[in-house]
Amino acid sequence: MRQIAEHLLKEYSTGLDYAGIKGKRLASRIQEIANIGITDNFGSCRIGFSAEERQAKELVKHWMSDAGLEVKEDHAGNVFGRLNGKQPSLPVIMSGSHLDTVPNGGHFDGVLGVLTALEVVEAWKATNVQPNRSFEVVIFSDEEGSRFNTGLTGSQAMMGYLNTLPEKDYEGKSFEEVLENNGLSGDTFFADKRDPSEIAIFVEVHIEQGKQLEKHDKPVGIVTGISGLFGLEICFSGQAGHAGNTPMGDRQDALVAASEFIFVNSTLPQKVSSSAVSTVGQVHVFPNGTNVIPGEVRLSVDIRDIDKNSLEQLAGLVIEEAIRISKAHHVKVKWEKTLDVAPVPVQARMQELQAKVLKEHNISPLYMPSGAGHDAMIMGKQLPIAMFFVRSKDGISHNPQEWTSLNDCVTAAHVLKRFVEKLEGAL
Ligand SMILES: [Zn+2]
Repeated sequence: MRQIAEHLLKEYSTGLDYAGIKGKRLASRIQEIANIGITDNFGSCRIGFSAEERQAKELVKHWMSDAGLEVKEDHAGNVFGRLNGKQPSLPVIMSGSHLDTVPNGGHFDGVLGVLTALEVVEAWKATNVQPNRSFEVVIFSDEEGSRFNTGLTGSQAMMGYLNTLPEKDYEGKSFEEVLENNGLSGDTFFADKRDPSEIAIFVEVHIEQGKQLEKHDKPVGIVTGISGLFGLEICFSGQAGHAGNTPMGDRQDALVAASEFIFVNSTLPQKVSSSAVSTVGQVHVFPNGTNVIPGEVRLSVDIRDIDKNSLEQLAGLVIEEAIRISKAHHVKVKWEKTLDVAPVPVQARMQELQAKVLKEHNISPLYMPSGAGHDAMIMGKQLPIAMFFVRSKDGISHNPQEWTSLNDCVTAAHVLKRFVEKLEGAL
């Protein structure tokens, strides 16, 4: 769909235009960003550190200046638009997201977080409000990580968690060359660590990329935290043999053991918490022949939860079951930890304030963890964070079909604005 703004505005309730927030402005900005890197099937392609991501940043910088913000870019390509508050020496409230996409992504992921933060500034400008604290709209570089198969590059560089990136990108271009094409340099890329004491809180609005809000018929919900992730590689090894000549009772079939494990794994999360999940997403079978009993199976397990204890408990259960099943099938099992990322919770007092704001907008609060990583996850390692999810049609994301109605986008902007205003008294 090329006429995004037109389609957004067709279903828009103009009654949501109040307190300086304007649906038409938001819709036309979503359209203008979508026009940059539009794909043959009308998706978005703005890979991190591409000409398209750069062009989108420059466009938003221009809007930031027009809105009266002081615009700066750091050496990692993160863009900050600052509105000085009445007390400019106080730590700032920061809000934003990213403008890069996956290769054939949608028009709302990241974009909505940047544009709703900017809409808050536009609304204050229209109603002659100067906040007490300074407010910064941020665009983080390369959140999706499609170029170097990484992710959260800008926020990690800003918070000092990143010192290197892979040497070559997916096209074989060197890190240095990629940066130079983007007006940046490898020499200074990791040098601009921001002092966390300058930032009071980071607030991110993001599309849900799931179906919970849609299922409960709510435009906006409260993120309780960003799930931690425990990654495992499990290897079952038995004995390869001829599929015709080995009787069933004499087999050590690694794939049969792995199959039972895959099923049992899916029943484990509910034993530890309602938010935990565990996924086998990759399976390699060796030798992988039609007439050979599988001798070895290597599989990945991706375990996530918002609570550190239940995450650890679930990882323990997964390993226990792998051992039990391997014994029952007379095969060996080995495992290796591939990832161990701690969950980042949102403080209860922030969630309470978010709930108050939602109720003001006649939305009963729905709480949910974020299974996917976001820039807020990086910011939340050292700083208070808050995150609002906005309803995604059919839960579709990273896809040209990604859609959030303008009513929901504008409601999110109102909610963000009120939350930031109410934060003044809570920090
Ligand atoms: Zn995103």
